[in-house]
Amino acid sequence: MAIYFDNSATTRVDPVVRDAMIPFFSDKYGNPSSIHSVGREVRGDVIRARELVAELIKATPDEIVFTGSGSESDNLAITQTARAFKHKGRHIITTSVEHKAVLETCRALEDEGFEVTYLPVDEKGVVDMEFFKKALRDDTILVSVMLANNEIGTVQPVKEIAEIASARGAIVHTDAVQAVGKMHIDVNELGVHMLTFSGHKIYAPKGIGVLYVDIELREKLKPLIHGGQQEGGLRAGTENVPYIVGLGKACEILIGTLDSEIRHIKSVRDRFEKRVLEEISDTYVNGHTHKRVPSISDITFKYIEGEALMVYAQEICCSAGSACTSSSVNPSHVLTAINIDPVDCHGALRFSFGRFNTLEEADRAVDILKNAVEKLRKMSPLCARK
Ligand SMILES: *Cc1c(COP(=O)(O)O)cnc(C)c1O
Repeated sequence: MAIYFDNSATTRVDPVVRDAMIPFFSDKYGNPSSIHSVGREVRGDVIRARELVAELIKATPDEIVFTGSGSESDNLAITQTARAFKHKGRHIITTSVEHKAVLETCRALEDEGFEVTYLPVDEKGVVDMEFFKKALRDDTILVSVMLANNEIGTVQPVKEIAEIASARGAIVHTDAVQAVGKMHIDVNELGVHMLTFSGHKIYAPKGIGVLYVDIELREKLKPLIHGGQQEGGLRAGTENVPYIVGLGKACEILIGTLDSEIRHIKSVRDRFEKRVLEEISDTYVNGHTHKRVPSISDITFKYIEGEALMVYAQEICCSAGSACTSSSVNPSHVLTAINIDPVDCHGALRFSFGRFNTLEEADRAVDILKNAVEKLRKMSPLCARK
């Protein structure tokens, strides 16, 4: 049986979420905009789901925009804020360790005449605050800094960044895809104007995302997708009712269980990581060991190739680099940004843990890895150099 330690790439849909969705594919098939009884029947379910999503991050329901993915939410937030405020300035600040959905969106805006500063991070992956303060300008209209990194799990000081940026009149967005369900989030306390998260990273289906937009900002943004008045006019298209209901259920589960969920995920991660570091020589953790979400352990196995290790330890599903870049030979932009030796980068694997993992799986995975690492190092030319 495969050991699935790739929960940052995607999660299995929780059976409770699946069961909540099923009636909405055929029995309750109405369009929530229809005024007849079949439409009316589902309208309440969409409203309820929106309330649950809002409750999880302490927002209000009218601040929740459903989108087609976390990537779409990032695109909507960044592109449309930039366009709405271009009369005020054309400078955007983000970090060098963002997900591609943020980085590539910012690059695309450079082609529209915006100027982007990509903040460096320290060797643990934390944003350089002094650099940030110096980078802020009067024409900075948007700051987008992720809450938790998808490769190494490092948590950024988003609250402090939001405070400083807001005081200078900039809009603040955070990509919280890897943070929701792994830490307590209160959008007001965090002080951000926009926050992104995604269904399939929290046991709902792939293909649904959320953008929280505070009510004042919302008025100023135009949609990326035109055509209808859905999502308060910010995203046209008939609502994906089954997925919205599923996401609502996924959030409802987290509202009730977040503390125990965090404790469980952390116990599996910590057991796995402690044993790997103790029992396999020449290994180290990339990123911050405590300012980190409980779900991620990115480990370098020196003198071997991560991809080769994945072949030798096939039962363990994990990622080499980040999932999106694992087919490329370039070392990950995140590991490069935290100054990991390029040779070591290739020996890095990301293990990411979730609700359905067990301590037994952690132990079994360590045993498999020990064996595989030993075999590979015996034939590694890199090892001979030691
Ligand atoms: C997965 C992920 C995304 C993209 O979400 P999708 O729903 O897959 O488009 C964006 N940002 C981060 C940090 C992610 O981990």
